[in-house]
Amino acid sequence: MKQKQNSFSLKYDTEWEYAPAPESTAHIELKPKYDLFIGGKFLAPKSKKYFKTINPANEKVLAEVAEAGTEDVNDAVSAARKAFPKWSSMPAKERGKYLFRIARLIQERAREFSVIESMDGGKPIRESRDIDIPLAAAHFFYYAGWADKLEYAFPNRKVEPLGVAAQIIPWNFPLLMAAWKIAPALACGNCVVLKPAETTPLTALKLAELIQESGLPVGVVNIITGDGKTGAALVEHPDVDKIAFTGSTEVGKLIQKSIAGTNKKATLELGGKGANIIFEDAPIDQAVEGIINGIFFNQGHVCCAGSRLFVQESIKTVVEQKLKARLETLIVGDPLDKNTDIGAINSKQQLETIKNYLKIGKEEGLESFQVKSSIPKKGFFCQPTLFFDVAQSSRLVQEEIFGPVLTIQTFRTVDEVIEKANNTPYGLSAGVWTDKGSKAFNLSSRLKAGVVWANTFNKFDPTSPFGGYKESGFGREGGLHGLEAYLK
Ligand code: NAP
Ligand code: MG
Repeated sequence: MKQKQNSFSLKYDTEWEYAPAPESTAHIELKPKYDLFIGGKFLAPKSKKYFKTINPANEKVLAEVAEAGTEDVNDAVSAARKAFPKWSSMPAKERGKYLFRIARLIQERAREFSVIESMDGGKPIRESRDIDIPLAAAHFFYYAGWADKLEYAFPNRKVEPLGVAAQIIPWNFPLLMAAWKIAPALACGNCVVLKPAETTPLTALKLAELIQESGLPVGVVNIITGDGKTGAALVEHPDVDKIAFTGSTEVGKLIQKSIAGTNKKATLELGGKGANIIFEDAPIDQAVEGIINGIFFNQGHVCCAGSRLFVQESIKTVVEQKLKARLETLIVGDPLDKNTDIGAINSKQQLETIKNYLKIGKEEGLESFQVKSSIPKKGFFCQPTLFFDVAQSSRLVQEEIFGPVLTIQTFRTVDEVIEKANNTPYGLSAGVWTDKGSKAFNLSSRLKAGVVWANTFNKFDPTSPFGGYKESGFGREGGLHGLEAYLK
């Protein structure tokens, strides 16, 4: 692909020629049809229904996947319940060994998992290869280490597992979210029923195969595919002790209503509208990279994306020019090409949602910027987009777009930017770019966000708790906090 030069004075002055560097799919083995993983076996759904999962980059069908109905949900929960007494009373050291084994198996099959993740969900192979899959393995390693040390993690407490956890995950980080959910639950001695998202079930089903291979006692992990109805049936099941949900605020609210008055425990990891704040004393080039990573990582399908940019007024012009110049160099296209920066939008439906927000921006009369180069005709793609001088009241600032769309606002003082950044229904993440440590600390304590990054963005680590305030949900995943949510 030929990269165009841009008009800004800080030119990327070599004309880069990128030869296509597609990752091979020759080693990928996908079955035409996937059943439900219940009680250690793959079982045809009693509902008799299947749905298709496609590759969003070319709209080709990858496989048919079982749709779990109410009876299937019952079977999965029963299998988990049946496995619970033995699993929870097994010496913790032995439980840890299984988790270590799963972690190692993920590492061994990392390439296969990365390619399938990119095929099923549209994310660039560089990201699934370097972030999603290694982090998923890291979560299993991390929680494997805690399994036999719970009394040190929570001194002077007698901790016990909750029982059966229903775990429902979204499509933006399919295997990683499965690892976030399964690893701490198992380390604490719980059994689980996991439901992946409809558009990205394949790596979870591959994980089911891997779990089978690991020799994990049957029924400890059950993986059932389906749509929102399957998720709702799982949440409503009377024999479930805990709901761990990651997804939209809208569905999070439905779940809260449905479990009100029951003894079910819940953690809800919901939407976000992260503020990325750039002060005039920040290292500007690094900050520009941080802005790009903050909003365009994973096509912007990131709950903690830095989707609201706040630039101090004195550096507005230079930051905006540098951002435009950087956009010109981003490669949008085939997720399996190792050069690709921005892959496919996860689904047609999500692409329509994003396009609708682009239309709203136009209707609000906002000035915008997109690179003029073409994007693939087949598949679901969207050019990264900047909107300038956006008002605090704009729908683009207030609502989660979940796509490669950045709104830019300015500020003069620290107090002003804190007020603007906190003026959102969400409270998941924020970023601060400054040369002054004192400023970074001041902001990190006053910003109402579960995570505040300083001079970086979108950094994840299994040891670090993650979660939100307000409409971004409650409960924490990762670190010791992530264990606590699975213990009495
Ligand atoms: P979603 O529509 O809420 O779906 C999430 C999961 O819930 C999917 O598996 C979905 O199944 C299922 N589901 C749908 N309706 C349900 C119901 N009534 N009861 C139970 N389960 C139901 O969210 P999404 O569009 O997939 O994901 C994007 C959202 O997730 C964004 O808002 C994003 O910010 C949020 N997210 C948050 C975090 C975090 O840690 N805070 C992380 C990642 C994503 P289907 O796939 O069939 O719809
Ligand atoms: Mg798919």
